[in-house]
Amino acid sequence: MIHFHIITLFPEAIEPYLSASILGRAREKKRIKVSYYDPKEFAVGKHRRVDQRPYGGGPGMVLEPNAMLRAAEKAIGRKKGVETIFFSTDGKQFDERMAKRLSRKRDIVLIAGRYEGVDARVRKILKAKKVSIGPYVLTGGELPAAILVDAVSRFVDGVLGKASSLESSRGTYRLAGVASPEVYTRPEVLRWKGKAYRVPKVLLTGDHKRIDEWKTKRRG
Ligand code: SAM
Repeated sequence: MIHFHIITLFPEAIEPYLSASILGRAREKKRIKVSYYDPKEFAVGKHRRVDQRPYGGGPGMVLEPNAMLRAAEKAIGRKKGVETIFFSTDGKQFDERMAKRLSRKRDIVLIAGRYEGVDARVRKILKAKKVSIGPYVLTGGELPAAILVDAVSRFVDGVLGKASSLESSRGTYRLAGVASPEVYTRPEVLRWKGKAYRVPKVLLTGDHKRIDEWKTKRRG
């Protein structure tokens, strides 16, 4: 079982996704667990303010370190070997390899920034890994957190129906992404706006050797 601890101001942005379908069932079956920590609950002062103006000027607000660190401390507790991830646009690109590695952890703390980001000292103090979900800027780290939880959970025993559903367990990593052969289901002939679209014949033969060859070829 992996326990994901997500530090976020906006758990409602991702909770529906993380409780639906395969991930929802994985949580019910206790293959994975998801907990949220709202930095506002760890902020001091009457207004529980967690954003402050950046030192040195510049636009926007920055998430102040104290509340983030207290939230992380709560998540980490006395556990050993906790992996802490700090989402940032200039982090290491998340990929399937990283997902597989993370799936061996028991506890993963995910720090989702907002606004102009989280005070950089948080990452240094927690010795967190800086991770980017891709070369584009999102409004917050919640989607990166949900993506990571999803991709990592697929490697956890009992989350997917069949181990063979794991593309990467078949050793098909590629630099530009994980290989994904085309897939087809019923109907055999799809009629759409006057045209017929057929399932590739080889997939209907029942000849698994030929089908595997076809799939390998389609992976490029
Ligand atoms: N100028 C900031 C930067 O480039 O990191 C923009 C911060 S962004 C608006 C707010 C937060 O969203 C970031 O602190 C980070 O947690 C998250 N975020 C946005 N895009 C991301 C990406 N591609 N990968 C990982 N996290 C991202």
